[in-house]
Amino acid sequence: MLDCVIVGGGPAGLNAALVLGRARRRVILFDNNSPRNAVTQESHGFITRDGIKPKEFREIAHQDIAKYPSVRVRNEKITDVKKTGNIFELVTEKGESINAKKVVLATGLKEIHPSIEKIMDFYGKSLFSCPYCDGWELKDLPLMVISESPSAIHMAKIVYNWSKDLIVCTNGKKTFGPEQKDMLQKKGIKVYEQNIKSLVGRNGDLEAVIFEDDEEVKRKGGFVTPEWIQATTFGYSLGCETHELGGIKTDQFGRTNIEGLYAAGDTSVIAPSQVIIAAAEGNRAAIGVNTDLSQEVFN
Ligand SMILES: Cc1cc2nc3c(=O)[nH]c(=O)nc-3n(C[C@H](O)[C@H](O)[C@H](O)COP(=O)(O)OP(=O)(O)OC[C@H]3O[C@@H](n4cnc5c(N)ncnc54)[C@H](O)[C@@H]3O)c2cc1C
Repeated sequence: MLDCVIVGGGPAGLNAALVLGRARRRVILFDNNSPRNAVTQESHGFITRDGIKPKEFREIAHQDIAKYPSVRVRNEKITDVKKTGNIFELVTEKGESINAKKVVLATGLKEIHPSIEKIMDFYGKSLFSCPYCDGWELKDLPLMVISESPSAIHMAKIVYNWSKDLIVCTNGKKTFGPEQKDMLQKKGIKVYEQNIKSLVGRNGDLEAVIFEDDEEVKRKGGFVTPEWIQATTFGYSLGCETHELGGIKTDQFGRTNIEGLYAAGDTSVIAPSQVIIAAAEGNRAAIGVNTDLSQEVFN
């Protein structure tokens, strides 16, 4: 019987695997290698790793984990997680069944972008979702915020710190009241509420946005606010409580309300979603797992 299965091998799952390996726990980490940040060229804001390629980050993490023989990493998808009594049963995409005493869910999020032609040609190259991750690279350029949600106003205020040459596009949605529009206008931020017809540019570098009335505005990049949903529904189907943003509720050691089930990274935090926060979350969930396994020996 395994001590723990970690589902998801992003920064959260990888750091959980490292800590559990060092704690001599028998662990398998399953990862199907489709992380949310795969589209981006560089990841920023993690001290000692600023500007690293997401793929390189994972390679270094795998080298770190390989030093600890009780941890195995399998490049496979988990399709089901069930709990019977105190034991978890996980099913792989090949139909194999694995039993474990504890499970760490670190499957991250999926993004649903506004339905705009060619948006994915630019996403991760000149259009991003997080100014803390990519604002520095776009500083002082003519930028746009694309947001169909009420968070448009928050995003506009934050992005204004990186560039004063800013427009906000709501793509047909009426998300702003007159006071908000007035506040943005006073800062020289124009709001475009008409539908976006297309984004134009080359090799991922944005050049302009074209609206349904054929008005064209030159832009070099910007930020979009996608809708975030859980990458898997395991947490929900096992009965996990969630907080208002939809993340799985945990205590300070990653414990969910389901005994033996832990959650870490974007899957529990949702915002702010950052590599360093996900890694730290994986660390503390691993400490939670090890603490509980250690305690059970004395029960
Ligand atoms: C475009 C973009 C740019 C970003 N830039 C930055 C940046 O510069 N700096 C920064 O700090 N943050 C950045 N982020 C955010 C950062 O990538 C996330 O916060 C971080 O990766 C979250 O880590 P995680 O381990 O929780 O989830 P993820 O990194 O999403 O990893 C989840 C893993 O679980 C796997 N998985 C999912 N379901 C299953 C399953 N059923 N079975 C097996 N495996 C499964 C996935 O394949 C994936 O590998 C960026 C995000 C995006 C989208």
